[in-house]
Amino acid sequence: MNTQQKLIDIFKKFPTVGSRTAGRFVYHLIKLPKERIDELIGAITELKNKIKLCQLCFNPYELNGSPAPAGLCPICSDPRRNKNLLCIVEKEADLLSLENTKKYNGLYFILGGTVATMKKEDISQLRINELKKRVSQNSFSEVVIALNPTPEGRTTSVLVENTIKEAIPSPAFKITHLARGIPVGGELEYADEETLESALEGRK
Ligand SMILES: [Zn+2]
Repeated sequence: MNTQQKLIDIFKKFPTVGSRTAGRFVYHLIKLPKERIDELIGAITELKNKIKLCQLCFNPYELNGSPAPAGLCPICSDPRRNKNLLCIVEKEADLLSLENTKKYNGLYFILGGTVATMKKEDISQLRINELKKRVSQNSFSEVVIALNPTPEGRTTSVLVENTIKEAIPSPAFKITHLARGIPVGGELEYADEETLESALEGRK
């Protein structure tokens, strides 16, 4: 395979990037001065070496000699967080939106996506096994399913709820969902803080 095609195939796998955009990225790179390419390689290498995924919630965090226990992000290792409360979100950006409201003090679990169908190949893209393990190993009092009110988000909410009930047949915790308020078809990532706050406070 030639070099250009190899890079196009890599970029094509990035979220929201199709073949055409991937091609444009590669032409852009070809025209860049060598120093800029080195800068990019350096930044990617740094990302590879310094950014880790949290073993509990899968939130990316930077290793910078912090006193946090190995393998845990600042949220999971913060003793002030409520360890009995777990919030399941689709992606990192949703976690950030909820954090920005400053109204949530529990822990998180990043599912890694949503599914349009209950097909095996779709489900295998999500951290379902990791989720089972997470809910089984902890004594939560509440698990909040905070997925987007899109068709995929709703399908995935059902899947998540079934998965939890399968892993723990009679859970001691309650399973709640964000209250309505986020526009139907809308996404947590783009919801304003006030909307998100009331969706969080009104969860049931
Ligand atoms: Zn974490």
